[in-house]
Amino acid sequence: PAGRVPLMAGNWKMNLDHLQATHLVQKLDWTLRDAKHDYAAVEVAVLPPFTDLRSVQTLVEGDKLGLRYGAQDLSPHASGAYTGDISGAFLRKLGCTYVVVGHSERREGHHETDEVVAAKVRAAYTHELTPILCCGEDLTVRQAGGQVAHVTGQLRVALDGLPPEQAASIVIAYEPIWAIGTGEVATPDDAQEVCGAIRALLAELYTPELANGVRILYGGSVKSGNVAAIMAQDDVDGALVGGASLDPVEFASICRYRD
Ligand code: PEP
Repeated sequence: PAGRVPLMAGNWKMNLDHLQATHLVQKLDWTLRDAKHDYAAVEVAVLPPFTDLRSVQTLVEGDKLGLRYGAQDLSPHASGAYTGDISGAFLRKLGCTYVVVGHSERREGHHETDEVVAAKVRAAYTHELTPILCCGEDLTVRQAGGQVAHVTGQLRVALDGLPPEQAASIVIAYEPIWAIGTGEVATPDDAQEVCGAIRALLAELYTPELANGVRILYGGSVKSGNVAAIMAQDDVDGALVGGASLDPVEFASICRYRD
């Protein structure tokens, strides 16, 4: 909507080794080519585990696929004594465009606070990566009707002090935790309510023009059967897709939601 190029991003989570990754990317690209997919009209990205990135890079660059790719996390630091962590510099060198920051599974499983998430957003920009900044409420907050306050609170911290030239290119993903991997998708109205509030927050923190250019994705049990209704909402500019992105034919039909 409003001139923003939709983005469909597949978050593979901790699935697919590098051989399986190669297979999936080839099948995804064949399927999209068969459908004469215009990658400039609906952008498509995959977000594999770190260990798959070099294989995906070789395929995408070698075959000049229109596909983009990125990682699921990065360190807030550039290099040094951080055993097990991965620098944004390494990701950039592997041709990554995107990096997911603050996914609820990392907030929960790795105790990532909004402040840590903010530092990772900055690290992404330091290394010329576009962050896909995740936010979203759990079921208790939703049942109390606190979703807008919760999400805008998360984003106020994560975006604090972020200069407008960086904020202008950020991608924000609204992912209600109760809808992730549960099969329970938010209604299009629920998605619109929070995505609209996120755009209003960006207009308040920056300008309405900047807010109008930012892509806001919905994530949570998106499938080919529900994506079109969600994409019909004014402030939803794409989807962050977990489970359904592991099936290349299903993910391709999500990318083809306009068909
Ligand atoms: C996700 O993990 O980002 C996600 C949206 O997962 P799923 O599509 O499986 O609910």
